[in-house]
Amino acid sequence: MQTRDRASRDRSELDNRIDLTSRTTRHHLAVLDRRRALRERSLESGDNTPWADALEDIQHSMEKTEVLAARDILVERLKGLSRAEEKVREGTYGLCDTCGKAIPEGRLRALPEAVHCVRCAERLEQERFNRSSQSLRAQEDALAAA
Ligand SMILES: [Zn+2]
Repeated sequence: MQTRDRASRDRSELDNRIDLTSRTTRHHLAVLDRRRALRERSLESGDNTPWADALEDIQHSMEKTEVLAARDILVERLKGLSRAEEKVREGTYGLCDTCGKAIPEGRLRALPEAVHCVRCAERLEQERFNRSSQSLRAQEDALAAA
């Protein structure tokens, strides 16, 4: 009898847990729907006051993206500078790493880390830009599918 009591107690505990979980889930869903409805209403009326927090979040994440982009530029610059040091040791400083042509003196003065001629640097920059917009599109697709 004891085991059956325990079994039924376990069962009701499980039921309670499942019930609680499903209520919590429905609650989250309702909150989400309410927020979405509020956002749609505020978009329609042009009143974004209830969404000040959300707008702040977006602004915050945009700032974060900008900070990361700025950081990327600095990291790239450091990489270029250490490559330039290498090239000085190799005796190839001032020659393009890609095509081997001489990098104009003015460019080297303005950008001591320049290890590519303007034409190669622009092509590499374009490739980098294409890659980052591809990954951005993939992120957007993932968000849209979520
Ligand atoms: Zn080149």
